[in-house]
Amino acid sequence: MSHSTWTPTSWKHFPAHQQPPYPDMQALSHITNALSVLPPLVYPAEVERLKSSIAAAARGGGFILQGGDCAERFTDCNEQNITNKMKILLQMSLILTYGARKPVVRLGRIAGQYAKPRSQAQETIEGISYPSYRGDSVNDLAPDQARRVPDPERLTTAYTCSALTLNYIRAMISGGFADLRHAFEWNLHSIEKAEKWKDYRDMVETILDAIHFMESCGVNSHLLDTIDFFTSHEGLLLEYESALTRKDPASGRFYNLGAHMLWIGERTRQLDGAHVEYFRGLANPVGVKIGSNADPEEVTDLIHRLNPTNEAGRVTIITRMGMDRVEKALPPLVCAVKRSGMPVAWSCDPMHGNTRVVGENIKTRAFAHIEAELESCFRIHRHHGTILAGVHFELTGEDVTECTGGAANLQDTDLGKNYVSSCDPRLNYSQSLEMAFLISRLIRQ
Ligand code: PEP
Ligand code: MN
Repeated sequence: MSHSTWTPTSWKHFPAHQQPPYPDMQALSHITNALSVLPPLVYPAEVERLKSSIAAAARGGGFILQGGDCAERFTDCNEQNITNKMKILLQMSLILTYGARKPVVRLGRIAGQYAKPRSQAQETIEGISYPSYRGDSVNDLAPDQARRVPDPERLTTAYTCSALTLNYIRAMISGGFADLRHAFEWNLHSIEKAEKWKDYRDMVETILDAIHFMESCGVNSHLLDTIDFFTSHEGLLLEYESALTRKDPASGRFYNLGAHMLWIGERTRQLDGAHVEYFRGLANPVGVKIGSNADPEEVTDLIHRLNPTNEAGRVTIITRMGMDRVEKALPPLVCAVKRSGMPVAWSCDPMHGNTRVVGENIKTRAFAHIEAELESCFRIHRHHGTILAGVHFELTGEDVTECTGGAANLQDTDLGKNYVSSCDPRLNYSQSLEMAFLISRLIRQ
């Protein structure tokens, strides 16, 4: 297939993996036609601002914190859930700003993370086979044959929940939620048992002192009460993503205006696949997840295909190797990309390569393994003279029991207490906070 002419739907001529088997394609196009004339969720200038921030981080002038649920649920579109997620992301970003002494780019896996790639088309629950759950934008989590059939109406709900979530985030920020002087409550008691607790407490006290100092010096109050916050999700459902793709009349470029940044998953990043075809035509910053089996040449080809003009900030490589494979798999990639001279932002997703299954198919991840992969990533990039520009986490502001370890030292036997995720295990509030402290030390080493 020729790669010369790109349109928002040219991907249809390429093999598209992980697309839901909709029983009624006409109903689907009816919905996507309606979505394509609804207002966009973000604005091109915002997307460009994020791209510049990512470009700066890639050069060492910032650090990207990307995080949120593995899969958002429509029921997560509520005040408490959004508030708690914003709170943990803002607290983590403050800790990282302190550690890195650089601006932190806040990028939520939020307001659109409703679709999931699945390894198997069917899954077995209590001995019965059902079509796999593919995220709330496709089908229902409830084990019910009819409700597991992909329903295109859910794309409209996904658009609506994304808009409602982002609307509330924008209101919170413009209303002063992120005002550093209000220093939203830090639930530090949850990490009091951590080995390095004293360091953590000192760090928070120093941060709060610095804020009060700036305030008493009369630092421009506008700087303390507003922040940039950007949204991202995996660009999986191409019918939905192309319906949210619009031509910017000012520049003539095409933007996906359903999120500021999107990423291509490990399962859909085939060089000649529909996802890469779709993403190559966008002006948005785009991420690509890269696992431990990736061939370095394939990765440089991918970067070139996505960013032939070498635009800075356009491509973020998000490695997700696993703590026991990263030492072997990451250096050849880093060397190949460095040799190619193409600009990329390197990010580390220490979650997806460290999933293990316990008991009856419960997925979990150990805090220590996540920390180990991060530590290796920082060390490998430092050794090769490249820059780890960011991190990518699955986390929540709620007190869930999905990942083991951390200050409360959660065990496999604790997982049943409050396991809420419909897909992959997330760090809970205190594990996320502690992880931010650990990263802020790693950045400075
Ligand atoms: C994810 O980020 O939830 C995901 C599915 O990741 P990956 O594509 O890296 O497997
Ligand atoms: Mn996941």
